[in-house]
Amino acid sequence: MADPYVLIIGSGFAGLGMAIRLKQEGIDDFLVLEQAGEVGGTWRDNHYPGAACDVQSHLYSFSFEPWPEWSRQFAKQAEILEYLKHCADKYGIRPHIRFRTRATRAQFDERTSLWEVVTGDGATIRARVLVPGCGPLSRPSLPDIPGLASFEGKMFHSARWDHAFPLESKRVGVVGTGASAIQIVPAIAPRVEQLHVFQRTPPWVLPKPDGPIPAWKRAVFRRLPLAQKLARQRIYWTRELFAVGFVAEPRIMKALQSLGRRYLRRSVRDPSLREKLLPRYTMGCKRILPTNDYLPALQRPNVELVTDGIAEVRARSIVTHDGRERPLDALVLATGFEAAEQVSPFEVRGRGGRDLDTVWRDGAEAYLGTTVSGFPNLFLLIGPNTGLGHTSMVFIIESQIAYILDAVKRMRARGLELVDVRPDAQAAYNVRIQERLKRTVWATGCMSWYLTRTGKNTTVWPGFTVEFRWRLRRFDEDAYEVLPPASEGAADVSPRARPTPRRSRPRLSL
Ligand code: NAP
Repeated sequence: MADPYVLIIGSGFAGLGMAIRLKQEGIDDFLVLEQAGEVGGTWRDNHYPGAACDVQSHLYSFSFEPWPEWSRQFAKQAEILEYLKHCADKYGIRPHIRFRTRATRAQFDERTSLWEVVTGDGATIRARVLVPGCGPLSRPSLPDIPGLASFEGKMFHSARWDHAFPLESKRVGVVGTGASAIQIVPAIAPRVEQLHVFQRTPPWVLPKPDGPIPAWKRAVFRRLPLAQKLARQRIYWTRELFAVGFVAEPRIMKALQSLGRRYLRRSVRDPSLREKLLPRYTMGCKRILPTNDYLPALQRPNVELVTDGIAEVRARSIVTHDGRERPLDALVLATGFEAAEQVSPFEVRGRGGRDLDTVWRDGAEAYLGTTVSGFPNLFLLIGPNTGLGHTSMVFIIESQIAYILDAVKRMRARGLELVDVRPDAQAAYNVRIQERLKRTVWATGCMSWYLTRTGKNTTVWPGFTVEFRWRLRRFDEDAYEVLPPASEGAADVSPRARPTPRRSRPRLSL
């Protein structure tokens, strides 16, 4: 294939969605680089026991590819991965994907206004537009615990689960009690001999309104797409209501805490265990975890919740601060991902050879979470401050895709070589974002992966998702330096620009 117009990195929900929408709009000259051998991103990598979504699948899916076959309200990992594979096949994306190819370096060539991307095998691909969709939750974070490297038992991160290792009759430790751990613990507790769950901060947990979707309902969705659309809308707006507590009035979250406390009282008989499980921060400041089986699992005779804090890891054990040593055959690190530091997923150099990591050393920022000044024609999917606490990231991804698609169509139609967000537009946007974040639940005093080490929130969108969708409904060229400028007419000066076969108005679909 000749050099593509658009180069996408990653084939999870973000990269795949971008590829499909380009293709639907008749833009075929794009290439997707995927470091693994299959599509799926986080849903390919996170196959730990119990992995499932905590957003209802009828919302956590593409609006352009509703799926009547979801078997549960909250699908499990395997079903979500199948859905993504189905999307890749149905829309003919696989021929556009170069599997087992990792982007290692991207450099903007100011002479040609093209991105030059070097891959792991040493090849160079040139593209007008670069769209990294690598996901903020793709780089596992390993805890800085003394002696961790000296552990001689089996050890792996939750996102690198080794299913070949039999857990049966093993003494297993799980470090962490976040979204991954609360799914892992109930799934492996019945299999292991002894399970020690090392908790640093208790999470707020609430019951998960999960269950199978009956066959008759799936049949209705199959025959009446409108019924499914309405179901999606109902889930979307119900969840969107919760944003009030997250972004506008954290006192609402305090009120919701009584639900969490009541659930804890109902589910845990032992008052001392209950005390250990009661969070001391405002609900929502860290992700709220819906689960029906975590609290029961912690009360199994072979499960222990350890709250004394890990002092060190030894060759075959963990020692806590109270001096107690617990022998272990295996250690699962459910310790999350490097998300807030938002270091670029590979070396990215923009105008003047500026390195994105260096530009972001005080905390990542972008314009509309998508473009970064000095890095023309670069569009980040799930960039800085696009994350959510209350609803589906697929909605955010689709909003960004609409924006990027509109930019690409304008660039091709007008032969634009370069679009670079103006530094003042980016700065003003981020001042406002950080101001708004001060009033949100994430600023109520807990430490979470949403914040950098210095406490800057670089991950979360401080508003309703409808606002995000609205702001990204079309490419706002006024905020950009554009070359050639509009005054020079619409001449196609780009050697690689091709006309877009079909232009359509930006699509705003829930
Ligand atoms: P996480 O939420 O960041 O949780 C990491 C856990 O490890 C926390 O309990 C943390 O404790 C603990 N930890 C980290 N370093 C530690 C250390 N040195 N010593 C002891 N404990 C340590 O990570 P995650 O559970 O993998 O989830 C990450 C994100 O992935 C979620 O927020 C969510 O967005 C996504 N996710 C989604 C789903 C889903 O259902 N859709 C499922 C899994 C994950 P502290 O709280 O004290 O820091």
